[in-house]
Amino acid sequence: MSHANAKDPWQEMLKRFNEAARRLSLDENVWKILSEPDLELKVSVPVVMDNGKVEVFTGYRVQHSRAMGPCKGGIRYDINVNLAEVKALAAWMTWKCSVVNLPFGGGKGGVIVDPSKLSMRELEMLTRRYTAAIADIIGPDRDVPAPDVGTNDKVMAWVLDTYSMRKGENCSAVVTGKPLLLGGSRGRADATGRGVFDILQHAANRFRVDLRSARVVVQGFGNVGATSARYFHEAGIKVVGISDVRGAVYNANGIDITKLREWVAKNKFVVGYPDAQAIDPKDLLTLPCDVLVPAAVENQITEENAGKIQAKLIIEGANGPTTDEADKILEAKGVQVVPDILANAGGVTVSYFEWVQDRMGFFWPEAEVNQRLDEVMHRSFQEVADMAAKNKTSLRIGAYMLSVDRVAQVYKLRGIYA
Ligand code: NAD
Repeated sequence: MSHANAKDPWQEMLKRFNEAARRLSLDENVWKILSEPDLELKVSVPVVMDNGKVEVFTGYRVQHSRAMGPCKGGIRYDINVNLAEVKALAAWMTWKCSVVNLPFGGGKGGVIVDPSKLSMRELEMLTRRYTAAIADIIGPDRDVPAPDVGTNDKVMAWVLDTYSMRKGENCSAVVTGKPLLLGGSRGRADATGRGVFDILQHAANRFRVDLRSARVVVQGFGNVGATSARYFHEAGIKVVGISDVRGAVYNANGIDITKLREWVAKNKFVVGYPDAQAIDPKDLLTLPCDVLVPAAVENQITEENAGKIQAKLIIEGANGPTTDEADKILEAKGVQVVPDILANAGGVTVSYFEWVQDRMGFFWPEAEVNQRLDEVMHRSFQEVADMAAKNKTSLRIGAYMLSVDRVAQVYKLRGIYA
């Protein structure tokens, strides 16, 4: 179960997948296959802690679908990681890669751990042992991890090193989101936030939200939240509310994101930021605003608060922030929700570019990465919006229909190996 409430994210994913499958009249055999992950691996991860005692952590790697290509998906270090969450995140990666038309299937990994409680040495040992435990199922042509909540480029460098040592060769394409010096891509760190910004512009244009006067609220101030907020601010779009795991701040006149980032760099959290008023984080999502960007964790917009949401447009930076019941309430209110599998696909798109560059051994300038990313986000937004309009459905179901149909076509071409 997710920590936010009792919703099982795997079941939430299945509800949307099933609806898209019904509308597509999906082949029943493909439907059955995609309703279960291809592979679920649970591993024990013993670590000698700094006090000399061994602690055994639990880790997972799930490959939802390998039909489209090697699996792609992050590794999450969080105390609330559980199998249902990793399965859902893996399936969302299948749909996400397919929505933006990348040659990847969907995977995800996680370890049940609070990384903030580990020393740097313990974090490295945990990462190396977890990598060794999943080494047989990952690889540049099998399954390519990346950072997610609680992991970063440093963790990816340890995964790369451990995997390469076992293989006896340098395998930079085994992970993405790694440091530039190890074969990372320019533009990767900002890619998800840049993609969210791209999508905001296309959605505002399509659904007639004037960004010159719009007020935006962002939940979460990590990689996705802080980077998107920075792009909004740089474009002159007013961000009035921001939260993180500790608290929330509000300023009806707009928050200076550059200053807030400096504050967070020193103080870790947004709490106490002097040029805004502290508010209860529970009130953040229902603040008066035009655009809401949930960019924290899943199950945040629920049947309890969906009716009170004032935004006309929601851009899902996080994975799975909206429950199925909340979707129905928002749809009835006429709120447009750009779903996670499209809105936050900028990260995996540049991960794909990173994997391509690693395999060529030739690296692109940042402007080229960004231009290619903007093109993918633009094309994908139009395809999803057109699919939703054609089928008179929400953007989420439109996005699922587009992606599930692509995966189904691949199954038709490949057949079912028996
Ligand atoms: P992160 O760890 O960098 O940041 C998460 C932020 O959310 C932090 O500011 C944290 O304090 C805040 N937070 C956590 N729980 C919260 C709560 N209950 N209420 C309010 N704020 C809370 O993680 P991230 O990489 O920014 O990922 C955020 C979301 O975006 C996740 O759902 C992740 O799966 C998704 N995502 C990330 C990427 C990426 O490239 N990093 C790509 C696609 C999707």
